[in-house]
Amino acid sequence: MKKLVILTVSFLILFAQFVFSQNILENKYDVKQYILDLQISNSSTVISGNVIINANVTSTSLDTFVVDLIDTIVVGQTYMVVDSVFINGVSNTFQHHNDLIFIPMATAIPQNQTFSAQIYYHGNGTANSQTNYNGISKYNYTGKIHTFTFSEPTWSKVWWPCKQDLKDKADSVTFYITTNATNKSGSNGILKSTESLPGGKVKYKWVSKYPTDFYLISFTVGPLTEYITYAPLPGGTDSVLLQNLLFPSSSYYQTHLKAINKTKQLLYLFSELIGTYPFKDEKYGYCVVGSQLGAMEHQTMCTIGYQAMDTTSTMYGVNTYYVWYVAHELGHQWFGNYVTCSKWNYIWLSEGFASYMEYVALQNLESQTKADYWIQEAHNEIILVPGGSVYVPDSLVADENNVFDYILEYKKGPSILHIMRYEINNDSLFFAVLKNYLSTYAYSVASADDFKQIAESTTGINFSDYFNQWYYGEGYPIFNVNWNQNNDTLTITSNQTTSTAITTLFKTHFDLKINYVTGDTIIRLFQGSNNETYKIYFPEPVTSIEFDPHFWLLQSNSITTGIEKNNIFSSFEVFPNPAKDKITIKLKQGIKLNNTIISIFDIQGQLLLQQAIKLEKTEININGLTNGVYILKLNSNDKTEVTKFVKE
Ligand SMILES: [Zn+2]
Repeated sequence: MKKLVILTVSFLILFAQFVFSQNILENKYDVKQYILDLQISNSSTVISGNVIINANVTSTSLDTFVVDLIDTIVVGQTYMVVDSVFINGVSNTFQHHNDLIFIPMATAIPQNQTFSAQIYYHGNGTANSQTNYNGISKYNYTGKIHTFTFSEPTWSKVWWPCKQDLKDKADSVTFYITTNATNKSGSNGILKSTESLPGGKVKYKWVSKYPTDFYLISFTVGPLTEYITYAPLPGGTDSVLLQNLLFPSSSYYQTHLKAINKTKQLLYLFSELIGTYPFKDEKYGYCVVGSQLGAMEHQTMCTIGYQAMDTTSTMYGVNTYYVWYVAHELGHQWFGNYVTCSKWNYIWLSEGFASYMEYVALQNLESQTKADYWIQEAHNEIILVPGGSVYVPDSLVADENNVFDYILEYKKGPSILHIMRYEINNDSLFFAVLKNYLSTYAYSVASADDFKQIAESTTGINFSDYFNQWYYGEGYPIFNVNWNQNNDTLTITSNQTTSTAITTLFKTHFDLKINYVTGDTIIRLFQGSNNETYKIYFPEPVTSIEFDPHFWLLQSNSITTGIEKNNIFSSFEVFPNPAKDKITIKLKQGIKLNNTIISIFDIQGQLLLQQAIKLEKTEININGLTNGVYILKLNSNDKTEVTKFVKE
């Protein structure tokens, strides 16, 4: 998900304690199927109906069936009331408290036996009127009133009874939505049937046969317009249904259609890079809703704010919202939905990876310049927050504001995946890592360590340091690089400090772009300790060195300095420096005067002047040069030396 919400203080206090309260008794069964059958209005967040949970007993026996459903969040506003409960079709007693329904079995159900629990209930399923996304929301946009759900991380129980355990995906989901006939509905999977009912009602049947996590089950209901198209898949024969609910009267409508067309390109691209779209037998699509920004990657049907689909408005100067949201939410269909993090602590596997697909989208469908801008912008935001780990520690995971930390998960998360790509140093191998990870944990869940093992087995690289410093560690490195050149030996020192005392060294490769008089080249060095010295054979006279020119590394304010002429150049002097109209070249004693040539280049390496030197002291007129920095190169027999002077 990507959301922009202003949370009030009261909201934070109210929900901080109750987010992750799964009951241990829920581990005694495995959910096979959810069947939701709900009466849903487009003009009210009050719902009613029943949910059937078909499950299999995994413990020795099941004597009490327990499932999540809030009783009250906000007194008089948000509540769910259980009306009746049936086990295998027979009415049963129940208790409903602490946001759980406890259903004692008349007879304990033995291991490996399946059973069916049907729960009738009603209530107002909006978590809080002050927030947009939790539980059911209601909006009026362009005069069309509609309702929709937002359940991540643990807000499903605000509107339907379910087992809020990431590791227990339902094998299939059926969702019957009964509403006014003037409404359309959007949900997961395929729209199997539309049945007209008496009283101006309609009953939509949505079915998904793909394993689905509880928080990815959703609905949107309102007087929206359906728009259907198809996205081709690589290979040329197969395509994916794109089914959308849109607002044709919105001024954004045309840009929404553009975003859907862009989605076709993205779906094709991602299928090529990381494996075929994982829900191709059902669909992908958008339910555009009246919140301005924000989006949620509901499985096979993204719910998205109208402005988040805008292909024209810009973000950070060059990147349009659609990349920020559309690529991100589509990326979640692989990272988050197809393979889900096994605990919220590993939200990186979802948000970090989906955010990286924004970069991948820019790089492939826009330009490397825009992708560079995206990653630099991410780095600029990260360095404002020097601490915190991408891994969400147990001490923080109970608060969703920590789980969905914007800087750590949406910016540092993708930035460190980019560093893994750099360390692998082979794009096809990097994408093979992602593909192997996805196919290994297909339709299931994974931990960060599962991903580490796949990365290591695919590449043969040991990623222990990488994970300890970038993922579990905190902060980022700061490099101080210094260089000097003596004849054909380039000496480089790199001193690394870090932004926190938690992680004191980032062992990493880093790139240096070496500019010399007639060209440039990139070298890759490895920093294995805080202070490193490298001696490199480099006969070309170096003019300057740039750190990490392609923005691979997350780092801050790294500087490179070169030691100037006094320490290096022993054959000649230039004075005055800076100079106004002339410079004097004075050769030091012992320099033979035959075959001595002096050349002046501008900073781009273009030759401006060249003359032979026959005297120990030679004046050169520089009146014709504009003010700036120039490079002076002296060739004497087999020696080449370089220095700079400034014309002012
Ligand atoms: Zn996301």
